[in-house]
Amino acid sequence: MAQPLASTELTGLQKAIRWHPPSYDIRVDEVPIPRILHPDDAIVKVRLAALCGSDLHIYRGHGGVNAVHICGHEFIGEVVALGSSFGEEVNGRPALYSQLKVGHKIVSPFTSNCGECSVCRLGYTARCPEGFLFGSPALDGGQAQYVRVPKAGGTLFNLSEPSTWSSDMSKTGRETALSKLSDSSLLVLADILPTGVFAALQTINHPKVQPVLTGRPWPLCFSPGIEGETLSVLQEDRVFTAAIIGLGPVGVCAAISLLDAVSTRSIPFRIIAIDPNESRRTKMQAVYDTIDESGKKGGDFAVLSIDDAKVKAKEWTHGVGCTAVLEVVGNPSALSLAYDLVRPFGVITSVGVHGEPPLPFNGREVYGKNVSLDFGRCPARAMFPPAFDLLVKRQDIFGGVGEASSLIDSIVSFDEAAASYSSFDKGEVGKVIFDPWK
Ligand SMILES: [Zn+2]
Ligand SMILES: [Zn+2]
Repeated sequence: MAQPLASTELTGLQKAIRWHPPSYDIRVDEVPIPRILHPDDAIVKVRLAALCGSDLHIYRGHGGVNAVHICGHEFIGEVVALGSSFGEEVNGRPALYSQLKVGHKIVSPFTSNCGECSVCRLGYTARCPEGFLFGSPALDGGQAQYVRVPKAGGTLFNLSEPSTWSSDMSKTGRETALSKLSDSSLLVLADILPTGVFAALQTINHPKVQPVLTGRPWPLCFSPGIEGETLSVLQEDRVFTAAIIGLGPVGVCAAISLLDAVSTRSIPFRIIAIDPNESRRTKMQAVYDTIDESGKKGGDFAVLSIDDAKVKAKEWTHGVGCTAVLEVVGNPSALSLAYDLVRPFGVITSVGVHGEPPLPFNGREVYGKNVSLDFGRCPARAMFPPAFDLLVKRQDIFGGVGEASSLIDSIVSFDEAAASYSSFDKGEVGKVIFDPWK
């Protein structure tokens, strides 16, 4: 039996950052506070909401949408109302339907998901058939004082109850960590950190990378028990070489995650981090310099412009090309560079949001290089546990705001919404967070 509403719903008006067609038109509007529309809904009072590079697609009028809507898909806040599906007696549904309470602190992934279909059960939560992207005409976003979260028991992370997710850390360890993490730090869990971790883990676990990691040639790398064939792999073949294209916040998170993955597994590595924008390279270098040895030991790391990166990749791989390329931009020229840099039997992992233009290579080219292409949106709900553990470990980076090595540049009020979108669009500022109550 579902219980009645766990709280009295709020009524009245709220402030919200809304996009107006056709482009470059951001306004702070007074709109109704969202209501429970479905028994699985939660209403969240937003504590902080971030501006993200992928918000710019719609901002510029390239998102293929035409309807006024509340922006933003990265938010953290507190549950203020729950639909009638929630209650302690609920069984056989995702844990949050029985455990989430009014007053709990939550962070949401950037898409909603049911948590109950085959797609969700397998961890591919970003493509739940019932899911929506926050901050789109289909689902109002989190750059508001309140936001409605559909399928909230499948979507949200309950930061007040760490037993509701898996972790390498003990429950007590998670509780202690949570008591020390700032809201601005936890907000990176909404998108940029899980997406970076996703890009790194998808790469390091790719079948094509296994000969390098195991020291056993294709296809013996998949059959650890088989002996009898001379293993011809040399130590120099076992250096994992990677390029990361695009050093915005997600690219930096991907670099942090990849460095952590290879150093903790004692994989020798050479990683090239690439961006044409000098201020982004400076940020990446400051982040790398700040990470302690436990998160980067055992290899080389270079932050370079595109031309310098091409030279360095040739030098570091003896002209063969990189084992893997992480493409974190989402346009044809970045993919084209990825193709140039990757080795035969290499992997391109693309988490950039791509648009309409065709891919910059043809069938003969991908056949000719045996290249593997991995595309698409991060299943942030599923990536939360490893992202949380890395967030705790890397507080040297994620703990600060406005420092040289911080991913978050500033926390501003809604009064600065239009100006923040404009300067973020022009690359004049890094990641900006809105405080809707400031
Ligand atoms: Zn985002
Ligand atoms: Zn689902």
